Amino acid sequence: VRVYINRIVENNKFSNGHIIILEDITLLKSLENMRRDFIANVSHELKTPITTIKGFIETIQVNKIDDPETLDHFYSIISEESDRLSRLVSDILVLSQLENKSGFEKKAEYLQLDQQIAQIFDILKLSAEGKKISMRLSGEKPIMLSFMPDEFRQMMINLIDNAIKYSEPQKAVEVILTQDDEEVRIEVSDQGYGIPTKDIDRIFERFYRVDKSRSKEKGGTGLGLAIVKHIIYNNHGKIEVNSELGKGTTFIIHLPKTRN
Ligand code: ADP
Repeated sequence: VRVYINRIVENNKFSNGHIIILEDITLLKSLENMRRDFIANVSHELKTPITTIKGFIETIQVNKIDDPETLDHFYSIISEESDRLSRLVSDILVLSQLENKSGFEKKAEYLQLDQQIAQIFDILKLSAEGKKISMRLSGEKPIMLSFMPDEFRQMMINLIDNAIKYSEPQKAVEVILTQDDEEVRIEVSDQGYGIPTKDIDRIFERFYRVDKSRSKEKGGTGLGLAIVKHIIYNNHGKIEVNSELGKGTTFIIHLPKTRN
């Protein structure tokens, strides 16, 4: 609580009365704390790859390493960490654009969702094929929805990419599209590792990972689902998660057809 005490002024003179104002600043404080935590987390997340990159460059320089095999190995680590750094920076930018409510762009377009998803399968084909994971789209066709194209793409890429990342090879990923008069539903299911019940409420937080080393190994930034959540909320939708450890996870997005 913030307290203000002022003496009451009457006819340009202080009177004996005081006025006390109590302001509840709980929300303000918690926003401030969230912002501070976010900056601390961002700095930490950015520092890790930078430290690794610097460390390997120094090792090469100081120890005058010239063995081609060792050099190859070190360069590939440096290149992976630089990639992580650029993914982090671009996810942080996306998130801050979304939080400012500006979104990516101003205009929604009438999208044919089944077509959009087929295009996203194409984008993710290489990583799915690398793990022999099949991707399937089923449900109603065509389904139309007014949505911002870049936001739709980003949301679906993040979910489908996670479904591939957090599954063993040779499993399947399925997207099911359905609709009624009020909303469109998009289900993204995998047969992957699943998420422990105690973590489900937290996976949409920035930088929250169930298994930090697994996420890092898969090239995750910890921001994918925070971005998904923001896109859905900005569009007045909601998202549900059902998951069973060792069996798989289903994300169900509900998007209203009219948003006013
Ligand atoms: P990351 O970049 O680590 O993938 P996300 O924000 O996309 O970050 O996801 C947060 C965490 O939620 C992940 O680290 C992972 O532990 C868990 N997660 C997300 N999607 C799935 C999924 N389909 N199956 C299992 N775990 C998942």
